[in-house]
Amino acid sequence: MSAVPGGENATLRVLVDREACVGHGRCYSLAPGVFAPDDEGFVELVDEVVPATDELRRQARLGVQTCPERALGLQEG
Ligand code: SF4
Repeated sequence: MSAVPGGENATLRVLVDREACVGHGRCYSLAPGVFAPDDEGFVELVDEVVPATDELRRQARLGVQTCPERALGLQEG
């Protein structure tokens, strides 16, 4: 079955603007299944493509929405 853009089988990819990340950790505190800290507290991704589970997709959206620096984005399709 092919992925439908925006559908439940669509690939969800997290985009990170590393220049914008200031490392205060909201994303990985709220969504540890998707985001993680590097050695200095800046964001790293657990997986660039979010595994297609409802919980990890929920965490990805939550982390992106709660980044006050707008350092995170989602690409779906
Ligand atoms: S919430 Fe945003 S600024 Fe803070 S660590 Fe995560 S990506 Fe970086």
